[in-house]
Amino acid sequence: MFIDVHCHLDFFENEKIEDILNRARKEKIGIIVCNGVKPEANRKVLGLAARYSEVRASLGLYPTDALKMTDKEIDAELDFIKENGKSIIAIGEVGLDFKETGDRERQVKIFEKVIKLALKLDKPLIVHSRKAEKEAIEVLEKAEAKKVVMHCFSGNFKLIQRIVENGWKMTIPTNVKSSEHFQQVIARVPLECLLCETDSPFLHPDKKEDNEPANVIESYKKIAEIKNLGLSEVERIIEENFKGLF
Ligand SMILES: [Zn+2]
Repeated sequence: MFIDVHCHLDFFENEKIEDILNRARKEKIGIIVCNGVKPEANRKVLGLAARYSEVRASLGLYPTDALKMTDKEIDAELDFIKENGKSIIAIGEVGLDFKETGDRERQVKIFEKVIKLALKLDKPLIVHSRKAEKEAIEVLEKAEAKKVVMHCFSGNFKLIQRIVENGWKMTIPTNVKSSEHFQQVIARVPLECLLCETDSPFLHPDKKEDNEPANVIESYKKIAEIKNLGLSEVERIIEENFKGLF
């Protein structure tokens, strides 16, 4: 089966989700990991995972959304995630975002709290690290996080080497079709370290409006092409990578 390890199905209107999932089923997408970014999204994600068998829940706090919350609200949401520990397969989307000039120190503090929870629940972290690639790695290393997926990682190859050495995973997003960076990642990173994602509704492979889980096949095709392997071989190894972590 094919797996979309990071998307935001909850961003779509309810009436569209059924069609989106039907198209994914046609492409044999067997697992779709839906990532929550804030309290209301987390609740929607849980609802989707309860309703559709291929949808798995990952609950999180997106760094810029978290900054809009009080410490008390953040603690309450982390408690909510903990209470729902049995219904989720990961913690994400979480991390750091230094592109939007938020309070960096507070972002790091919140991220550290989130990592602590993931370690306690023994769940993988799905990490966002825009313009904070090195910092995100440092915070994760300091906390001794072992189960980590660096989602859409845009750092340099020195940092990518660190991800590989730490035994973490990296995702290949569907925009790899036109992204030289991610094509390079495929070429230089061992297949055992890779997973695939759409980040739907973002990162459409052909830069069209709404991306969706069915398109994750584009990431698999690019890996097969660059690694010079059959598509079913890539499918099998990525599934093994996923099952070894989640
Ligand atoms: Zn995302």
